[in-house]
Amino acid sequence: MTKADLPPKQNATKSDDLMPDEVKRAYDELQEGAQTLAEVSARNQALLESIGDGIIATDQDGLITLINGSAESMLDKKRSDLIGKSVVESVPVVDNKGKEIPLYRRPEVLALSTGKPSSNPRGQTYYYKRKDGSQFPVGITVTPFVLGEKIVGTIVVFRDITIETDIDRTKTEFVSLASHQLRTPLATIRWYAEMLKDESLGKLNEEQKEYLETMYKSNLRMIDLVDALLNVSRLELGTFIIEPKPTDLEEMADSVLEELAVKIQAKSIQIEKEYSPKDLVLNVDPKLTRIIFQNLLSNAVKYTPEKGKVSLSVEKTDKDIQIRVKDTGYGIPKKDQKQIFTKLFRADNVKVKETEGTGLGLYIVQSILETAGGKIWFESEEGKGTTFYVSLPLEGMKQKKGTKSLA
Ligand code: ADP
Repeated sequence: MTKADLPPKQNATKSDDLMPDEVKRAYDELQEGAQTLAEVSARNQALLESIGDGIIATDQDGLITLINGSAESMLDKKRSDLIGKSVVESVPVVDNKGKEIPLYRRPEVLALSTGKPSSNPRGQTYYYKRKDGSQFPVGITVTPFVLGEKIVGTIVVFRDITIETDIDRTKTEFVSLASHQLRTPLATIRWYAEMLKDESLGKLNEEQKEYLETMYKSNLRMIDLVDALLNVSRLELGTFIIEPKPTDLEEMADSVLEELAVKIQAKSIQIEKEYSPKDLVLNVDPKLTRIIFQNLLSNAVKYTPEKGKVSLSVEKTDKDIQIRVKDTGYGIPKKDQKQIFTKLFRADNVKVKETEGTGLGLYIVQSILETAGGKIWFESEEGKGTTFYVSLPLEGMKQKKGTKSLA
């Protein structure tokens, strides 16, 4: 109730005298309360309108009850056209290709169904659509508000993140350019180092051999890092190609294990393999599938101490093709498990034991699978071992057009 809702006091002057004292007092208090309420409401309104972020309030059914000026201008929609409408229907969210984000992944729906604050996921940009169909990248946070035990509505706060997205893209383009330019000189160093190592240019003494070997290994590590950076930038820019073709998974996994043979032998690691059925052929991109096997198997070997065991299985089930890489290694501490697919993350327990590593491998594998239509997850216990699982659809990987293949 506002002050205007009460009968004007001056008209009641005569009858005021006739009012019993307590009624008069109650009337005055009511008028004061209405005045305070009107002031609070005006202050809240001014506060809401002065905020640069878009704000939308909804009721428990997701129907819009309030919207501020910033939201109106960002969405280019009138307040009167939005009040009372469903937030998910009248404010569509799409991905960078303009494809609508399914309801179950929208923060507005998640906040209402779980009763917990929800934001758009890290690593994927959501876009709000304006009235004219154009779109802008947006950071969304939805907070449900609860009365007693019941969710009675949500507050959606959003921000146009065009500038941040542009900076991010420029940074990724720079990494892509720099790593691409670094590949040629690194390949030249490798080539000459190999020639010297072969002694095709003359005999080397033991000290020269040792130094050359160190240079050669450092160069290989640099090539791996530059390739990983290039791959990350191509995945993030969305320029990479997925070209599925019938690929023998057993043959591929075996050839990756062969590449790792020196490391496997050096640590006396026992390898177990199981292919069911044998010679399984799947319609996948061979380069990308190789990257998946390389990362999972080399991690298992790298993070397993001497005389440990690494088991690989590739199995066709009714629903999918499941790749499993199990090791008896250091494991991943519980506290680090949430971040394992985050770019550049390395768990503390392995950083001391294995200094080599970029923290990019699993991020690359997960990004590939997200686009190609697969999934990756793991189980791990510190000190006991880790099992990584990859699931690929029976029909293989989804094709994707692009300009570059991964390194
Ligand atoms: P890198 O191995 O180059 O550090 P990855 O992205 O491949 O980067 O892996 C990220 C982190 O995940 C590793 O640094 C390590 O902490 C953890 N990790 C991955 N695989 C295993 C494994 N099989 N056993 C234990 N830790 C692992």
